[in-house]
Amino acid sequence: EKYIYSFAEGKKEMKQLLGGKGANLAEMKRLGLPVPDGFTLTTTCCLAYYENGKVFPDTLGTTIAESLKILEQQTHKGFGSLEAPLLISVRSGSVRSMPGMMDTILNIGLNDDTVKMLASQTGDKRFAYDCYRRLIQMFGNVVYSIPAEAFEIVLTHLKEQRGIQLDTELTGDDLHSLTIEYQHIFRQKTGRRFPQDPMQQLLLATQAVFNSWYNPRAITYRQLNNIDEHLGTAVTIQEMVFGNNGKNSGTGVCFTRNPSNGEKKLYGEFLLNAQGEDVVAGIRTPQPISDLAVTMPTIYTEFKRCAALLEQHYQEMQDIEFTIDNGQLYFLQTRNGKRTASAAIQILMDFLAEGLLTKEEVVDKVTFDMMEQALHPSFSEEELAEHSPFAIGLPASPGAAVGRIYFSAEAAQLASENDEAVILVRQETSPEDITGMIVSEAIITSRGGMTSHAAVVARGMGTPCVAGCHDLIINAEKQTLTHPSGQLKEGDWLAVDGSSGKIYTHVFELTQTAITPAFEQLMVLLTDMSDIDVRANADTATDLQTALYFGATGVGLTRTEHMFFAPERLIEMRRLILADTATAREIPLNKLQHFQTSDFEELFRCANERPLTIRLLDPPYHEFLPHDISEKNALAKALGISKTQLDQRLSELQESNPMMGHRGIRLAMSYPEIYKMQVTAIINSALVLEDEGLTVIPEIMIPLVGSVTELKWMRHYLETAITELLVEKNSHLTYKIGTMIEIPRACLTAHEIADTADFFSFGTNDLTQLVYGFSRDDVAKFLPLYLEKGLLPHDPFQTIDIDGVGQLMKQAITLAKKAQPQLKIGVCGELGGDPESVAYFHSIGVDYVSCSPFRVPLAKLALAKASI
Ligand code: ADP
Ligand code: MG
Ligand code: MG
Repeated sequence: EKYIYSFAEGKKEMKQLLGGKGANLAEMKRLGLPVPDGFTLTTTCCLAYYENGKVFPDTLGTTIAESLKILEQQTHKGFGSLEAPLLISVRSGSVRSMPGMMDTILNIGLNDDTVKMLASQTGDKRFAYDCYRRLIQMFGNVVYSIPAEAFEIVLTHLKEQRGIQLDTELTGDDLHSLTIEYQHIFRQKTGRRFPQDPMQQLLLATQAVFNSWYNPRAITYRQLNNIDEHLGTAVTIQEMVFGNNGKNSGTGVCFTRNPSNGEKKLYGEFLLNAQGEDVVAGIRTPQPISDLAVTMPTIYTEFKRCAALLEQHYQEMQDIEFTIDNGQLYFLQTRNGKRTASAAIQILMDFLAEGLLTKEEVVDKVTFDMMEQALHPSFSEEELAEHSPFAIGLPASPGAAVGRIYFSAEAAQLASENDEAVILVRQETSPEDITGMIVSEAIITSRGGMTSHAAVVARGMGTPCVAGCHDLIINAEKQTLTHPSGQLKEGDWLAVDGSSGKIYTHVFELTQTAITPAFEQLMVLLTDMSDIDVRANADTATDLQTALYFGATGVGLTRTEHMFFAPERLIEMRRLILADTATAREIPLNKLQHFQTSDFEELFRCANERPLTIRLLDPPYHEFLPHDISEKNALAKALGISKTQLDQRLSELQESNPMMGHRGIRLAMSYPEIYKMQVTAIINSALVLEDEGLTVIPEIMIPLVGSVTELKWMRHYLETAITELLVEKNSHLTYKIGTMIEIPRACLTAHEIADTADFFSFGTNDLTQLVYGFSRDDVAKFLPLYLEKGLLPHDPFQTIDIDGVGQLMKQAITLAKKAQPQLKIGVCGELGGDPESVAYFHSIGVDYVSCSPFRVPLAKLALAKASI
C-alpha cells in the first residue's frame, strides 16, 4: 500500500486520501502557484497506525526517509545538515475541514547545531533563534502536552525585563537565552532532553499529529458536525518558508471575497515579521490586506492574480493562508471559505455575471439550507455552541426569535400592544389562537407534530415554531411552564430556534438577514429555469404580498375559514351555525357576505390579474364554536338564548370523527346557502374590479369532493346563482369552478370528475391522511416510533410518500388528462413547499404547486433543480 504522495502526484480530487490541505497544496502546485515543496502521508496511513495499536506501519520509516531525500534534492538543502539545513513543518489535514482542532508543528529540523548554522548563514541570529524557540514550544506542547503557558510566562517575564512590548523587539541574544530556558522547561516537564535528532523530531511530530485525531476537542468537533471518525487525518510534510525573516517578510490569511456579505473584495489580514498562527493568536494587531498594496505593491498584485486564479479554478470563494519570505510570496493553504448564506448567494450570482459559472451550475450549487437561512433571522453558531438548550422539540418552522412567554392568545395580544416581543406557549394551538399567533415572534407547543395547527400556521406566517416539546408541562391557568431543568412563568425570556427545535433561556442576539438584490436576481433566475408555476397559499392580502415578493405567480389556495375568526365575524358565524331555520340564517349570512366581499376585493386587487383560487368553507362547524364555560356563557348571552339551548345545539354538532365528518362539500349539501353566499361575494368583488378595467378570472374551489355526483349537483346550484348575478349586472365575467382532489375515491374516479371540473388541486394533507389512514391530529403519538424503527423512511405529511400517495396522484392525473387534456392540475398543502415532493410533482406532470409564502423560494429552487 502506498502511504506517501509527493505534491507532484496529488490533486484536488484526492481529498479522501490526502486530506483537504494535502490535496489542495498539490493542486496549487499543479496550477503553477508558488508553494513550498513537500509530500503527504495518507489518511489510510493514519488508519493503519491506529489498527496497528498506534505503531507506524513497518515500512513507513524507510518511505519517509526516501521522500525526504527527494525533498532535499528539490530544495538543495539537507535535513540536519550543517551547511544548508532543511527545516520542515508537519501539518495535520483531515478530509473535512476541522479548523484549529488538530495540531501542526513548524521549524522541525532545528537543534543546537543547525540553529547556529542558520544564524550564520542568514546573518540573522534573531531570526534563527526565533524559529528555534517556536519549535521547542510547539513540539513540547503538541508531542508532550506541556501547556503553552509554561513557556509564555518566561517570554513575558523576559520582555518585562527588557522593557519591551513586542516579541519582534527581542534581540538575537535574548532569543538565544530563551531557547536555553525553554529547553530547561522541556527537561523539567518531560524528564528528557529536547530531541536533537531531526529524524526523531519528525517521527515524534508525525505520531503526535496522528494522535491529535482523537484529542478531546477534535472528538467533540466531529460529533457536533457529523464527521465520521473513521476518516482519519493525513499528515503533510513541507519545506518551511519564513514569515519571521525580517521586515520584508510576513504571514497572513485572506478570503477572496467578503464572507459576511459576499462583496467582491479581498478580505484578509497579515502581520509583518511573524510566523504561522501569530495572525490568529492576536499577539499583535494585524494589518488589513489592502495595506499590502501600499507596502509591497508587486507582491499584492501577484497575490491578487493568484487569488483570482484559485477562485476560477475551484469555482468557490477561497480561504487562503500565505507567507512572504524575504520578498517572495508563498501559498500555504487554500480551501472553500465558510460564509453566510446571503454571502454565498451574492457570490454565486457574481460568479454567474463574471461567466465563471453557468446558470445550471449556480442552481446546482444553491442549497435549500442556504435559501432557508437567507430568509430567516438566526442566532450565531458560536453563541449557540456556548449554551445548552432548556428543552428540545420538533423544528416545526425555521428561524430564530427571542421574547417573553405568554400562555394565551389574549395575553400575547396585550403584551404585544405594549411593544413586547412575545413568544406564545400553548399545549397545542387551535384556530382561535390565531390572533395571538399573529403577534408572536415565535410559537412553542408541547403537543402536536410537524403538521399540527401551530406548525402549519407558523410556517405560513414565517414565524419560528418549536412543536411537540413533550418534556414541557404547560399550565395555562397558573401561567407556568415546567421542565425537568426548571420552571418559567409569564413574562420570562426565552430564545427559540425553529430550525433546530431548540429552546434556550439565554437571550441571544439575532442576526437579521434581509433579502438582498442578489437574492432577488436568484429568484428571477429560478423562475426562468423552471417550467411549472409556483403559486402561494395566501389567506390575506399581507400573505399574498409576501408571496409576490418571493415571486409567486398567483394564489393556489385561499382558505376562507381563516377569515371568520376576527371577533366581529366570529359572532356572525356562530349566529349562523346556531340558527335552526333558513330565515334565521339570512341575517348573519348577509353580514358575512359583506365581510367576504371586501376580503376578496382586497385579494383580487393585490393579485392584480394573477390567478386566485378561493376554496369555499372546508372545516366542520364545531371549529367555530366555543369550548370553555365562560365563553359559552358569553355566547348564549350575546345570542339571547339559554345555556341549555346552546348546549343542546353544541351536542348536536358534536361528531366522533370530525375530519371525516360533516365538512367541506358535505356540510354545504346541508346548508348550501353558505356556499352561495361565498360565491356571491367572490363574483361581486370580481365585478367591482372588472368595472375598474381589470381582467379577473375567479377560480372557485370546492373541497372534499369524493364523487362526481356531488360536484355536479353543487356546480349546477352555484352556476345558477352566478348566472343570475351576471345577468342582473349584464356582465360576461369568466370564472372557473374546480375541486380539491383529497379523497382517495376522487383520485380513482378522476376521469369522471375531470368532466365537471375546470381545474384540480391535490390537497396532500387530507389525501395522505386518508390514504394512510393516519389521523393528522394523532400521528404524533405513533409516527416517531415508526421513524425510529425504520418502518417509514420519513414523515409522509412532510415529504411525499411516492409509492402510495404519489402513485395514486400519478394515476389520477393520467385518468384526468385522458378525459380532459386541457385540465389544469395543481398541488396545494404542505407538500407543495417540500423540495423532494415538489420534484416528484414535477415528474408526474402537475401544472403548478402552491405553498406557504416563505416556501415559494424553496419550491422554485426544487423545480429549477428538477429541470436541469
Ligand atoms: P491549521 O490547520 O491549524 O491551520 P496549518 O497546518 O495550516 O494548521 O499550519 C498552522 C500555521 O503554520 C498556518 O498559519 C500555516 O500557514 C503555517 N505553516 C504551515 N506550514 C508552513 C510552512 N511550511 N512554512 C511556513 N508556514 C507554515
Ligand atoms: Mg491552516
Ligand atoms: Mg383538505
